[in-house]
Amino acid sequence: MLAELHYRDIGSGITEIDCMIHRRGMAASYLLLDEGEAAFIDCGTYHSVPILLAALKALKVAPEQVRYVIPTHVHLDHAGGAGGLIERLPTAQLIVHPRGLRHMIDPGKLHASAVSVYGDIEFQRLFGDLRPVPANRAIAAVDEFELPLGSRKLKFIHSPGHAKHHFCIFDSASHGMFTGDSFGLAYPELDGSDGPFIMPTSTPVQFDPKTWLQTLDHLLAFEPERMYLTHFGYVDDIERLADQLRFDLNQYMQIGTQRTKASDRVDQLREQLMQYTLERLAARGSRCTASRARELLEMDIDLNAQGLDMWLEKLA
Ligand SMILES: [Zn+2]
Repeated sequence: MLAELHYRDIGSGITEIDCMIHRRGMAASYLLLDEGEAAFIDCGTYHSVPILLAALKALKVAPEQVRYVIPTHVHLDHAGGAGGLIERLPTAQLIVHPRGLRHMIDPGKLHASAVSVYGDIEFQRLFGDLRPVPANRAIAAVDEFELPLGSRKLKFIHSPGHAKHHFCIFDSASHGMFTGDSFGLAYPELDGSDGPFIMPTSTPVQFDPKTWLQTLDHLLAFEPERMYLTHFGYVDDIERLADQLRFDLNQYMQIGTQRTKASDRVDQLREQLMQYTLERLAARGSRCTASRARELLEMDIDLNAQGLDMWLEKLA
C-alpha cells in the first residue's frame, strides 16, 4: 500500500504530519527540527512508519538527524509505530514515561491486550505490528526531565488522568505544549462558531477524571501559548478550552455515576455520551451536521463509554 503523505509547516520548526490512521485528520505526529537535530512526538501505528519516513525525505531530513522518538503515552495510536521507527532511524533514542518503558522494550503485553480486544485479523489491519525497542535505546523521562534539541529545550511533564503512562512536553521555542490525549481531542471538522470544539478522551483502562482535573491545572501553570493535540492539530484558545474540558469531565462523572447499577451500562453510556456531545456541538454552533459528527466520533465515543465504565467499576 502506498502511503499518502500530508504534512504542513506550523511554525517554530514544527511540522504536523498526518499519520493516516483510519482517515485523514485523525492522528498527528509532530516533527521538530532545530539546528539540524530532529525529533518525532507521537508516531501513529506501524502503518504510519513509511509515512513518517516519507515526510523526512520530503523535508530533506536524513534519518541520522532524528535524535528522538517520543510517544506521549503507550496507547497504540501514539506509540504503535515507535519500535518500527526506531529500527529505521540509526541513532534515534526513544523517550517514554517510566510506566511505559517496559511495554516498549517488550510489547508482548500491549500486543496481547490489543488482540484480546480486536482479534488477530483486526489487529493486523489496525496496527500492523509492534516492534520491540532495544533497551539500550530507550530512556525513561521522570517528571520535569529536560532534554535539549538544537537550541530549544523540551520539558517532560507527567500528566495522569487519561492514562498513568502519559506525559506532555513543553517546548521552549514555541511556548507550546505537546499534549497527546491529555488536553482532549478537537477534530477541526467539529469547529464551532467560537473556534475549536474540544472533548475528553476517556479511553480505557486508566481514565481517572479527578486526577485529570488536577493535571489540567498543572499543565496550565506552565502558561503554554499553544497546545499541540495528537487528535488533531494545534489549538490556541487555551483558557476557554480548558474550561470546556473541566465542564465535560464533571459531566462525564455525573453521567457515569447516575448509571452505576445498570446491567447494560456500557450501552447506556455510549448513547448518553453521544447525545451529550451532539447537544454540546449544536450549542457551540458547529458547522458539522449531527450525522457527520456521529460518523467522526463513533469510535471515540465507544472508547469513552468503555473507559468511563471501567472508572465506575473501580469506584464500586
Ligand atoms: Zn490515549
